[in-house]
Amino acid sequence: MKRILLVVGAGALVLIAILVVRTGQIGVAPPASTQKPPLISVNAQQTAAHLAQAVQFRTISTQDPADFDPAPFIAFHHWLGETYPNFYARVQTEMVDSYSQMSVWPGSDASLAPIVFLAHQDVVPASEAADSGWQKPPFDGVIDNGFIWGRGTLDDKGSLIAIMEAADRLAASGFVPKRTLIFAFGHNEEVLGSGAKTIAQLLKKRGIKPYAVIDEGGAITTNMPDAAGPVARIGVAEKGYVTLKLTARADGGHSSTPPTRTAIGALSRAIVAIEAAPFAQKIDPVIAKMLHATAPEQSFFGRLAIANLWLFEPMVSGKMKNSKTGRAMLGTTIAPTIVHAGFKENALPREASVYVNFRLHARDTIEDVIAHVRGAVNDPDIEISFDEGQGTEPSPVSQIGTGPYAWLAGVVGDVFPGTIIAPNVVLGGTDSRYFSIVTDDIYRFAPFTFDAADFGRLHGLNERIAVDDFARGVQAYYLMLERAGKML
Ligand SMILES: [Zn+2]
Repeated sequence: MKRILLVVGAGALVLIAILVVRTGQIGVAPPASTQKPPLISVNAQQTAAHLAQAVQFRTISTQDPADFDPAPFIAFHHWLGETYPNFYARVQTEMVDSYSQMSVWPGSDASLAPIVFLAHQDVVPASEAADSGWQKPPFDGVIDNGFIWGRGTLDDKGSLIAIMEAADRLAASGFVPKRTLIFAFGHNEEVLGSGAKTIAQLLKKRGIKPYAVIDEGGAITTNMPDAAGPVARIGVAEKGYVTLKLTARADGGHSSTPPTRTAIGALSRAIVAIEAAPFAQKIDPVIAKMLHATAPEQSFFGRLAIANLWLFEPMVSGKMKNSKTGRAMLGTTIAPTIVHAGFKENALPREASVYVNFRLHARDTIEDVIAHVRGAVNDPDIEISFDEGQGTEPSPVSQIGTGPYAWLAGVVGDVFPGTIIAPNVVLGGTDSRYFSIVTDDIYRFAPFTFDAADFGRLHGLNERIAVDDFARGVQAYYLMLERAGKML
């Protein structure tokens, strides 16, 4: 008995030692650089004024192509040409899919794969009514109290203009990149449009395999639930997307003599069955790396759990499941979004349908989702269909720590010293998803600072960016472009 106790006791000590040693191996904050970062000086008021002007072009994307107004896009292109003459003097620019713009700045070494910088010109609509809730009109481009206000300042004219400010400065300096730099500005990202897709197909057709693609989708966050301090979230993967339509059919007729199976009843059972059969929710390697990177922000026991996911995975993922974002990171999500049924309160509809939107985790394919839904519904009379053109498989996972990731991390370290750098999975969709036909290394990151409270401004009210944060973003893009052009 005593010997057994000794063995168990020794085992427990060994386990504790392993847990603690592993905990000590993570949770190290990034070292603050002792050298002064090599940043350009930026006239913050002037760059802010340019973004404010860009906001005034109502480059609004519309769900129905018939509502699309090209005039603001054409005017915006003219303005870009006038505002950034040094850039346009050095690049070859072509219009793709009518209003998307691709500019190529040829590198001196044709053997080096190019880097593609993406941003989109279009914005989602915003109400201009006096009682809309906007503190400043969304398309006036107001600069007030240290902020540039308006639709698109964060999503995504902020990126587009900051890239242009940086590239124009670099071009004016006489810089000749070794590596070709490509700038691709789609015109209909917000409606899952064709612009960026056409550009990606064009690159493929020309045999161009980029070293990396940089797009929106990640930023530097502050005051987030998992980390209060600044964290540069570099999106190394993007979830897939598919919307399934489920249709139930039954006899129509007068509601005084209903059949046992009604269209609405059968459809409702199907919706309940799908929601009752969630997809697996587990910590994958990307999320594990993210947790490791943000561990310095955690308590000792938080770090202990993260350092020993082999033992504590259920506990850590259980905690993540308490938030909507956490659940979305761990697995494929299910969201019924539209229901159609009925036309008269005393008549039975012959048909009832629902659209269910799924965001696919990397462990599921569109085919898996359809099979999962079919199994959950378990009713051969429910028709399941989807628009083939609309679905996207989950993206490949880009390199983490090495290759282009190291280049980005280096820039973040120099421009934002002391910032934690963490890989991230992008839960929404970006234009960059189309580029997985030409490269695996896609990074969704814009060097702007987002406070937790700013997320509601994306596609929401009072979208704005701080003048200083924007200027800092220009410095970051300059360094990114300069190093991209020199990197071998
Ligand atoms: Zn966007």
